[in-house]
Amino acid sequence: MRVIVDFEKCCGAGQCVMLAPRVFDQRDDGIVILLDEAPPEEQHAAVREAATVCPGAAIRLDESA
Ligand code: SF4
Repeated sequence: MRVIVDFEKCCGAGQCVMLAPRVFDQRDDGIVILLDEAPPEEQHAAVREAATVCPGAAIRLDESA
């Protein structure tokens, strides 16, 4: 899995950080920081959920990677 974040779409809501704190962090202004663009298997379910709930639809997943 490869994680792609569109920082322009991120509205800083932070759901991704709560769901997958090993993969996402936030800057002081709330905008997401991608910590791991190729997360290990055990993180995949949390990352998928983060992508689903992200209010800005800013998280895209390439499942072929
Ligand atoms: S859930 Fe989406 S909008 Fe919220 S901080 Fe994460 S990437 Fe940004």
